[in-house]
Formats: sequence, C-alpha cells, structure tokens
Amino acid sequence: MARKYGKHGPREDTFDAVEDGEGAESLPPPDCWLCERPCGETVIWHHPVPKSRGGRDTVPMHPICQNMLITTFTNSELQRYGLDAALLRLDPRIEKFVAWVSNKDPDFKAALGKKKQR
Ligand SMILES: [Zn+2]
Repeated sequence: MARKYGKHGPREDTFDAVEDGEGAESLPPPDCWLCERPCGETVIWHHPVPKSRGGRDTVPMHPICQNMLITTFTNSELQRYGLDAALLRLDPRIEKFVAWVSNKDPDFKAALGKKKQR
C-alpha cells in the first residue's frame, strides 16, 4: 500500500504557511475551511480574500476544495464572501460540491474536468 506522491509537492503560491517540523505529526490535521472535513496530507493555505485584493488571512483547505473555489468564483466574488465560508456553502454549486466531496478521501485529487487514466 505504497502511497504515491511526487517528491515535489504541489506548488501553490498560497502554500506558504505550512508547518513542517518534527512533532507536527502528533497534531491532527486542521479542518478544511470549505467542507469542514479534516485535511489530508496536503494542506493548502488559501487566502479567502485574494492576495491581490489585500487579503492577509489564510485558511486550511483541501487542494480540491481550493480548486473548486477558484474555478467557481472570480476574485471579486471571493473578496465579497471574504472569510465567511458559511455564505459560500449557500451557493448551490458549493453545496453540491461539498456533498459530493464528503465521501472522498482527504487526499483525493480529482482533476476537476479532467479525466484520469489508470
Ligand atoms: Zn475540503
């Protein structure tokens, strides 16, 4: 049951606040800001308000959840929602996504809109 991960993790420009020290292993993963499930091995630190819009706060997210957000909303919309994930979840697209992703592995990485060959 070898896990297959590249040696180089995903490089996101939001990926800048991850703790990588020893001892961090005993900490439970943070809950995802969007879907509220625990994060997996990859935690994306997402700026709810885009950095380009002056956002400074970061929240933990699954890669797939961030992907969903940034493909669903424009920066302007994200700025309007700000730090209120509950508001985002009222959006039918997000509501549907959260319901769908709730059965997936925390490290599930579907390429949205892209077929994966096995
Ligand atoms: Zn999530």
